[in-house]
Amino acid sequence: MNFELTEEQRSVQKVVRKFVDKEIIPYIREWDKNGEFQPSILKRLADLQLMGVCIPEEYGGVGMDYNTLAIVCDELERGDTAYRTAVSVHTGLNSMTLLQWGTEEQKQKYLVPQAQGRKIGAFGLTEPNAGSDVAAMNSTAVRNGDHYILNGAKTWISLCDIADHFLIFAKTDSSMGHQGITPFIVERTFEGVETKAIKGKLGIRAGNTGEVILNDVKVPISNRLGEEGEGFKIAMSALDNGRFTVAAGACGLINASLEASLKYCHERKTFGKEIGKHQLVQQMIAKMSSNLEISRLLVYKAGWLKNGGERNTRETSLAKWFACDAAFDAANDAVQIHGAYGYSDEYPVERYLRNSKAPVIYEGTREIHTIMQGEYALGYRNDKPLRQKLPAWPFGEVSVH
Ligand SMILES: Cc1cc2nc3c(=O)[nH]c(=O)nc-3n(C[C@H](O)[C@H](O)[C@H](O)COP(=O)(O)OP(=O)(O)OC[C@H]3O[C@@H](n4cnc5c(N)ncnc54)[C@H](O)[C@@H]3O)c2cc1C
Repeated sequence: MNFELTEEQRSVQKVVRKFVDKEIIPYIREWDKNGEFQPSILKRLADLQLMGVCIPEEYGGVGMDYNTLAIVCDELERGDTAYRTAVSVHTGLNSMTLLQWGTEEQKQKYLVPQAQGRKIGAFGLTEPNAGSDVAAMNSTAVRNGDHYILNGAKTWISLCDIADHFLIFAKTDSSMGHQGITPFIVERTFEGVETKAIKGKLGIRAGNTGEVILNDVKVPISNRLGEEGEGFKIAMSALDNGRFTVAAGACGLINASLEASLKYCHERKTFGKEIGKHQLVQQMIAKMSSNLEISRLLVYKAGWLKNGGERNTRETSLAKWFACDAAFDAANDAVQIHGAYGYSDEYPVERYLRNSKAPVIYEGTREIHTIMQGEYALGYRNDKPLRQKLPAWPFGEVSVH
């Protein structure tokens, strides 16, 4: 076991940190206040080759390992959850799913420009009446000759107004429950696609989230991902990668909460001493600091399994569950440490607290992960090998695990 980051990983970490410090942190308070998503940040991330960091070079990416993606997400969320969420859906949920399940033609047409950051991908699973209960979805895809006709409404879709390509899950057979779902690559420019942002969110206000409406959208057969009825498995395997990036991002939020709190602990004095000298404040700092370490270890373990080409649903779920709860607690304690000042946007911690809530809900709520972990421990849940595996890293070589 080697816990050291490689030289390449450290260098990516440095690049993202510098970028976040210079190009996100000075402006984020304003963007968050105005509810503005900045597509130019994605363009800059593409310039820095960070939109396809763990996609093989032959498909337009940089070909680095999966833990490098975790590092990118960790550092990005130190700046704001909105841009980490963008990378989570673009790379984790969309591009990596194309890498795992796409045909060579689909990879060339959609994955290459996405990995290069020239096109942006999003992920449309959730519907007004189907969140945790994916099989309850109502969107339909009806085969008609050499294409399908898609109808339905997706909601809470990150990057809805920004993305060029959506992975849309729809029922090809409504009588088959979760076995009747099929995913499609839908281009924004296809006739009948409309999007609309949701306003008034608690957090991630600098992000873009909303509805995708599909009205008789004609999608060629060549844009179907996997076989008919394979959609549930594909969605769950996509979530193995999305959740990994969410967990890694949560580490960044804990880190940001800790950094802000440490600074404030040394500045603020009560009863004649720095508040950091009070043991009850130290308790909050100790919890943040230990949870940061534990969360990163859980994330890197999941990444290590991905590098080895092994199934990691259990480990990724644990990392996501633990890290997101820990990030919420860290942000909450960071506000507490700042006292009344933490309650205003004079300090960033109130934004951290608002931002930390969505990751406890999306990509499997806290309750869904709790159930999963209970079922794994009890032996009620077992993961079978998938028809298509995420490629092991180093790409093109036989697994070293
Ligand atoms: C900011 C944001 C961005 C998002 N981005 C995307 C995106 O890009 N793409 C996408 O497809 N979706 C996205 N989502 C949607 C998200 O994945 C769903 O909100 C999530 O899956 C939960 O579904 P739901 O909101 O319908 O809650 P429900 O499933 O209705 O759950 C409501 C409550 O009931 C609990 N519950 C449900 N079932 C059980 C059970 N069996 N046992 C115990 N408790 C249970 C839940 O834990 C929750 O507390 C996003 C959400 C947010 C907030």
